[in-house]
Amino acid sequence: MPRHGVSPRHSHPRSGWEQGLDSFLGPPRLLWMGLGLALVLALALPDSLVLWAPAAAHPLPARGHPARFNAIVTQLRNAFGWWNLTCPLCKGLFTAINFGLKKEPNVARVGSVAIKLCKLLKIAPPTVCQSAVQLFEDDMVEVWTRSVLSPSEACGLLLGSTCGHWDIFSSWNISLPATPKPLPKPPSPPAPGAPISRILFLTDLHWDHDYLEGTDPNCADPLCCRRGSGLPPTSQPGAGYWGEYSKCDLPLRTLESLLSGLGPAGPFDMVYWTGDIPAHDVWQQSRQDQLRALTTITALVRKFLGPVPVYPAVGNHESTPVNGFPPPFIEGNHSSRWLYEAMAKAWEPWLPAEALRTLRIGGFYALSPRPGLRLISLNMNFCSRENFWLLINSTDPAGQLQWLVGELQAAEDRGDKVHIIGHIPPGHCLKSWSWNYYRIVARYENTLAGQFFGHTHVDEFEVFYDEETLSRPLAVAFLAPSATTYISLNPVSPPSLQVTASTK
Ligand SMILES: [Zn+2]
Ligand SMILES: [Zn+2]
Repeated sequence: MPRHGVSPRHSHPRSGWEQGLDSFLGPPRLLWMGLGLALVLALALPDSLVLWAPAAAHPLPARGHPARFNAIVTQLRNAFGWWNLTCPLCKGLFTAINFGLKKEPNVARVGSVAIKLCKLLKIAPPTVCQSAVQLFEDDMVEVWTRSVLSPSEACGLLLGSTCGHWDIFSSWNISLPATPKPLPKPPSPPAPGAPISRILFLTDLHWDHDYLEGTDPNCADPLCCRRGSGLPPTSQPGAGYWGEYSKCDLPLRTLESLLSGLGPAGPFDMVYWTGDIPAHDVWQQSRQDQLRALTTITALVRKFLGPVPVYPAVGNHESTPVNGFPPPFIEGNHSSRWLYEAMAKAWEPWLPAEALRTLRIGGFYALSPRPGLRLISLNMNFCSRENFWLLINSTDPAGQLQWLVGELQAAEDRGDKVHIIGHIPPGHCLKSWSWNYYRIVARYENTLAGQFFGHTHVDEFEVFYDEETLSRPLAVAFLAPSATTYISLNPVSPPSLQVTASTK
């Protein structure tokens, strides 16, 4: 490939970057953007892709610049002939692109390319493609123009660090206090007669407001058994009264039945509720839909659990578009304010003022349910590979992990034990987040008495090992199964924990 490519079809020679510029500003640019949007949809629509992604905790430091980026840049430079693009020109070019792209008609143009690609690649049925793109396009263009297409990031990638700095998903470190780590204390069984706490652990309820008995459980949409799913072929049974083992969520009556049947398993001292309240109809959810799910199910939980305190964590399905959780530096209408404010209002009876304050800022909080125990609820969407807002800046979003270290150190100083609850389990996170979390768990192994997550819909656990030899298990995170049957799952009766003497 010549460094200054000249197309034989052109009657007069043009420099390589001019051709590249044409390509980038013309229809291919839309194609790239549309492809990116289609890719995001492919990740968001069939939850199976997300749910069944291989889980791995990350005991080793995440590497900085993935080597594959260098190869991609070289290919791009060769393909587009961008070898003599200067830095100021590059920055001017991306400033212009971003300015143009944010205009309303161009957002719609990117969207129309994405719709075509979504249909062409058969990511979803045409009507789902249409709705999903319209739901995602505005946030996606906002994120791209502030991340991969920002002059500094893009030109840093294309022209090297002298022109800008490409640090999308680059590695980062939180700092641990200078206080030396206490000697590890191997866990020992509680003394006979030690006080016992019973905790109900609820996760992934996924209420479908539009669930309809008798509809097709095998429809073409990403979520079935609902108004709009159509009827099944006459030879096949329709959606059941209580639910269906298919790509279906639950009607309200099933969740009512679940909560009203808890009696024999109780009484409970408190409830850990690790998120994902709405259904999987992620292509059409409005903010009103999500808020209706939040308030309806919160009221249901309160009705059946009465005075028992409930401690919730924020799931990836609470927002819309799904997985979209901008860190607090994003302000205005794109921010998560609409959601966190509603959560603070709905959960006010259960949470103290200080917890409500951080919940409003970043969707996480800490409180002391009883003397000697600190409970920390993390917003794991800030670790998520599917949270596209982290393209802008993935470094300890909202300062949450640094805050966690402060909480754990204070608990260690007081001699308290700590439970962590969250939605997405740490083995499913971006590498740097996961690695930092692993370091924190290892540092505070004597203080951290339990970790509880959901999201995978499966009854499983993740084990943490010591960093030096990776052979001594030092902590475990319990992942509870879902209440919903999505996808084709058989949920167990609500799991509960019996915590004995681990809380001082
Ligand atoms: Zn879920
Ligand atoms: Zn989830």
